Amino acid sequence: MQITNDQPPRPVTPKDAAAMILLRDPDDPKVYWVKRARTLRFMASYHAFPGGQRDEADAEVPVRAAESLEDAVMRVAAIREIFEETGILIAEGVERLTASRLTELREDLCADRVSFREMLESEGLTIDPHRLIEAPRWVTPATMPRRYDTRFYAAWLPEGQDAHVIPGELEEGEWLRPHEALQRWVDGSCLIVTPIFAALQALSEDIENFTDRMFSVSQEERDHLETRVEMRYGFYLCALRTPTIPPATHTNCYIIGGDEMVVIDPGSPYPDQQAILDRNIERFIDEGRKIREILITHLHPDHIGGVNHLASKFNIPVAAHRLTADAIGDQIRVDRFIEDGELIELTEAKTGLTWRLRAMWTPGHAKGHLSLYEERTGTLITGDCVVGFGTVVIAPPEGNMREYLESLNQYLELPKLTALMPGHGPVIADARAKIEEYIAHRHERESNILKAVREGAVTLSSIVEKVYTDVPQAMHKLAEQSVLAHLEKLEDEGVVRRDGEAFFATS
Ligand SMILES: [Zn+2]
Repeated sequence: MQITNDQPPRPVTPKDAAAMILLRDPDDPKVYWVKRARTLRFMASYHAFPGGQRDEADAEVPVRAAESLEDAVMRVAAIREIFEETGILIAEGVERLTASRLTELREDLCADRVSFREMLESEGLTIDPHRLIEAPRWVTPATMPRRYDTRFYAAWLPEGQDAHVIPGELEEGEWLRPHEALQRWVDGSCLIVTPIFAALQALSEDIENFTDRMFSVSQEERDHLETRVEMRYGFYLCALRTPTIPPATHTNCYIIGGDEMVVIDPGSPYPDQQAILDRNIERFIDEGRKIREILITHLHPDHIGGVNHLASKFNIPVAAHRLTADAIGDQIRVDRFIEDGELIELTEAKTGLTWRLRAMWTPGHAKGHLSLYEERTGTLITGDCVVGFGTVVIAPPEGNMREYLESLNQYLELPKLTALMPGHGPVIADARAKIEEYIAHRHERESNILKAVREGAVTLSSIVEKVYTDVPQAMHKLAEQSVLAHLEKLEDEGVVRRDGEAFFATS
């Protein structure tokens, strides 16, 4: 992406939400986690604790001896959400109900045939807020397009009940020991966000006092952790504000590895943002790690804006594809070229793990664009080939639609794809589906562009008017670039003929 705005964006207002850390078997404690559905718009396919957004009607549920109305409402939200999502009901008097009655009530509640308050009243159940253990509250970082102010609670599984996820918003649920959950994360077989990690770590260290441990972490430290989100072990995401294209406001900088690490795309030219990354790097160095290299995915300013600062401050060499190095040579000294297929190996003694980053030359968005594929975990760093939201601009002559589609197809040939770590927006767990969606989207655009040309639209702007009806007017100038890229591909294929600024169909 390229420069279009220079104003600090206003973060999205977080919505109220509640989540529940369910525990069972005090002698051999296990925690319940769920895999979120791939269709969700927030954290799709991530592992998390059950929970969800506060409901208007949660305030109508009477709560005995609540400390404050606000607190009571959120506890009700947590209890209602886990009943809907897992079938577990934490209420006084619930032991009188049979399992089949609970199932019926859950179905009625989920189908909106009854409100939570009506259900509790009709069954003679009450809510005791003290059955829930309070855990720290977390707010989604301001860099994310969707944000929640989530209150976390913990509770022990009521006797005689068990959790059953009905596939829908959640794909599956599982009881497991906290250290087993952490091991899955270390192995790279799941994605989690900071509060989930913090809870699992505290649970695995000291289940009796895990909330005390969590509360003992300072706000400053929590804020810092949100600037290096470790959704996957050894993959740190530091999103920094950059001059990029809306709806993106930030560029994702990734720091990957163990004892040796690489920094990918330190893109922010703003000193306050560079300072955030500096603190992370200082912390890694303090931990005894070495930063081996800065890797650049491509030449755009929002991906290279912080390279010189970081390279000179910490004396780190810079590596990029030869074509990128040629293009930015007057701004940045590239110390080493990265070839297509080259392997960058980063190891960690304490875990015996290796991160095997395979460089892939993936032109299309930019001529020297590199992606990095981590072979052990199936994690793909996509640069601007695929982004977490919005679309990628393919702007000729740097951009080339045929090459772009070839690069996306190259992604699909990878043996294992478990996550896309894009240059902008959230990390995508449902990797293959996202790439297929991108390809399908381009094919659809292309056929609509061809149709518009056949129907007599001759200029770029008239084609955009016809085809980009789903895109705000302000983005139409950019869309013209992508249309041109499609037309150049169609021209190569002999389907479209160009005459100056005009385009015609040949058949
Ligand atoms: Zn770009």
